[in-house]
Amino acid sequence: MLALHDLIWPIFDKQSTAMTFKNTSPRSFLIFNFSFLILLLASCKFRQKADMIIHHATIYTVDEKFSVAQAMVVRDGKIVATGTNEAILKEYESDVMEDAKGKTVFPGFIDAHAHFVGYGFSLQRVNLVATESWDAVLNRCTEFAKGLPAGQWLTGRGWDQNDWVVKEFPANDKLNELFPDRPVLITRIDGHAAIANNKALEIASVKPGDKLEGGEIEVKNGKLTGILVDNAVDLVSAKIPAANEAQTKEALLLAQKNCFATGLTSVHDCGLDHGDVEKIQKLQQSGDLKMRMYVMLSDAKKNFEWAFTNGKIKTDRLTVSGFKVYADGALGSRGACLLQPYSDKPDWTGFLLSSQAHFDSVANIIYQKGWQMCTHAIGDSGNRAILTIYAKYLKGRNDLRWRIEHAQVVNKDDFKIFGANNIIPSVQPTHGTSDMYWAGDRLGSERVKGAYAYQQLLKENNWIPLGTDFPVEDISTFKTFFAAVVRQDAKGFPAGGYQMENALTREQTIRGMTIWGAKAAFEEKQKGSLEKGKFADFIILDTDLMNCKETDILKTKVLATYVNGERVYKQ
Ligand SMILES: [Zn+2]
Repeated sequence: MLALHDLIWPIFDKQSTAMTFKNTSPRSFLIFNFSFLILLLASCKFRQKADMIIHHATIYTVDEKFSVAQAMVVRDGKIVATGTNEAILKEYESDVMEDAKGKTVFPGFIDAHAHFVGYGFSLQRVNLVATESWDAVLNRCTEFAKGLPAGQWLTGRGWDQNDWVVKEFPANDKLNELFPDRPVLITRIDGHAAIANNKALEIASVKPGDKLEGGEIEVKNGKLTGILVDNAVDLVSAKIPAANEAQTKEALLLAQKNCFATGLTSVHDCGLDHGDVEKIQKLQQSGDLKMRMYVMLSDAKKNFEWAFTNGKIKTDRLTVSGFKVYADGALGSRGACLLQPYSDKPDWTGFLLSSQAHFDSVANIIYQKGWQMCTHAIGDSGNRAILTIYAKYLKGRNDLRWRIEHAQVVNKDDFKIFGANNIIPSVQPTHGTSDMYWAGDRLGSERVKGAYAYQQLLKENNWIPLGTDFPVEDISTFKTFFAAVVRQDAKGFPAGGYQMENALTREQTIRGMTIWGAKAAFEEKQKGSLEKGKFADFIILDTDLMNCKETDILKTKVLATYVNGERVYKQ
């Protein structure tokens, strides 16, 4: 090892020969010597201590320039520096040296539209996704009910009659036969329709001929079929007893586990009651729930009162500053509100879930109080209704980041309203690839061009947050990435991709899953990129999503997930 004077003298000698000391006083010589020593000591100082150094990685920092680093330093849950291996290892040291062996690091993914709490509870219910027939649904229910105490509600979600040979809504006769004493409510995949058995309808006092705004109770030959659409579902679901504390904790921790395994370190939960927020706070304070969450409160009087009494919440792991409003239903169940009738159901345009006056008054109060408004809008009429009301309050350029969730079918004349008023479309790429098989039937060949139009929407504000809407779609972040970039299903259908003019680039998609997700929650200064001062939320992947073959995207594995510098998942 070189001693300090070995380092100083050769340089000093070189310096001194280059300078003339003829007129140099001893004092100025000393000053020169001393300042030079300081300079050298600064460069020879001890390396700074860090909690962790990750090195020999391909780190996509997702900063402004989308720059790539090799090493990153973490201290106290935050990122201290990123840079080359050489620069970082020279400057820092740590007892925890993570050699990534060339693997890829991204900021932790942010799901900008999910139902985290609902997903957690869904894991405690019968999963009916990918059932091939009504009989298959009944079989899964029967199996699941074996583990339930007598009389306890059987609930589940995920059936989709569009996947069946008989594409009509089922009726509840067989459900009544199988479960005469157990109330049953099983929801369609989009959550906008459900079927209940007679026991459940009886508990909810639903009768043939009952009418309600924004919902439909199906009746055939004077009898209830059990099919409930939109607000009618709530009549029955409101009767399901609330989960107790232990069940809630189990649900949220199950959801968290699956999120970490797919590289999510933050989620936006789109529509919770204040009671759920209190449960989340408690679990975060106890240290059980490490997931960072942005919560939109549901459009209900009790939530508005609670919010405006207690004010916004902003902690390291929880932000509550928005409201979730529903304009219309979903396209699959023809609840989405369209400007012109459905192409496969003439004389039917779907409907808005509340009156225009309601949306207007909600927008007014949210605007007055300075909160964020986030509205579910699927149909072109649903989108236009909300865009018009948003524009009335936002009045042009602004930074309030009011969001339209899904922005799924937008009339060609309405795209510009997004940009003109900085309205943020919050979209879920897997909706496009799930719906592509029948979206054209519902909308016709012309209108469908304005559907799932992510690139066109992105251009309006130059940023767009991405999400999944889990449990409506699979939680997988790699399915989102694949759907956004390749726009095919897992089998490679359709060849060449679906409406590829609206595909996103890989860089846009990564930004949508990280920094733009953070921005959609006003959190871009704290997270969403791997830059100095931000939370050390990051993931290590076995695949370089920026350069891999398209066919490798869905095979990607998360090797490790870190939240606040703490490893919360390891493969
Ligand atoms: Zn949703």
